[in-house]
Amino acid sequence: MFKTIRNFHKFQLKIVPRSGFHIGAGDTDITPIASDAEFVRISTPWGRTVYIPGSSLKGVFRSDAEALLKSQNKEVCELAKGDRKDKDCGKDINNNNNLEKSEDIYPSVCPSCKTFGNMKMASVVRFEDFFPFKSDESDEEKIKHIDEIEKYTSIRNGIKIDRFTGSTSKGALYDYEVITGGCFYGNILLKNPEIWQVLLIYKTINNIKDGFVKVGGKKSRGLGNLDIQIEALVINSKSEKAITFTKFEDGQFKDNNVQFDFQNAFKERDLIGQKITITDKAAIENYFQQMLTKLPESW
Ligand SMILES: [Zn+2]
Repeated sequence: MFKTIRNFHKFQLKIVPRSGFHIGAGDTDITPIASDAEFVRISTPWGRTVYIPGSSLKGVFRSDAEALLKSQNKEVCELAKGDRKDKDCGKDINNNNNLEKSEDIYPSVCPSCKTFGNMKMASVVRFEDFFPFKSDESDEEKIKHIDEIEKYTSIRNGIKIDRFTGSTSKGALYDYEVITGGCFYGNILLKNPEIWQVLLIYKTINNIKDGFVKVGGKKSRGLGNLDIQIEALVINSKSEKAITFTKFEDGQFKDNNVQFDFQNAFKERDLIGQKITITDKAAIENYFQQMLTKLPESW
């Protein structure tokens, strides 16, 4: 499914905190030994800055997708819980040498692994890191935005509760850094998704926006309520007249050309077919509404 290009879907997103939020090194799998108290930071050519690691977002989206899939009575292996490596449905495939081609692996793994990957299969969806500036801004603007977002960082005090007695543990005060404002920008990209996989990502974006899904650490303290907006949706499609999704049928990946009525979209031809850019909010919503009606019953 990765050897050919059928479609790309790029969600260009803007994240704005509605409450404080905290992403510590412990909430990502990047630097497990770093302190959890500080908000994660990274060095960029424009200075050291707080950011939202793509790996944190992947965890949030995978965990929500697993809940959504289970609500549709689909079996998933719950890899988002991290410590459930025994439930990785890619694990069993490891022991079977006959299963090496993606055509053989894909149908035998759960819908969550089909989307987010596992030990044997690459992910269809890729989460970029989110920064307090847009990638197309000038160097000066990026430096300014990195400087500005520091205004929204503050330190909060927590009190450690003894897990066994429920009382405060003696002398167990700790500080952690939260961000209460500013904007973060980044992309979520899907390569050759099936139609339901695009809808799955869209659903979690809405769940975050509606406040049902929180991001980062210390959620029990009311942190992690974020607004997330789709600033643009960029679609590349192999077909010039339709959107070419992937479908899996008769042991093979095939083209699934689906017609859409695009409103307020900018269309251009390109080398592999067509490129469609939608920035109008209502037109983006309309595209996903149409997609829902075109979802195969057997998704
Ligand atoms: Zn799985």
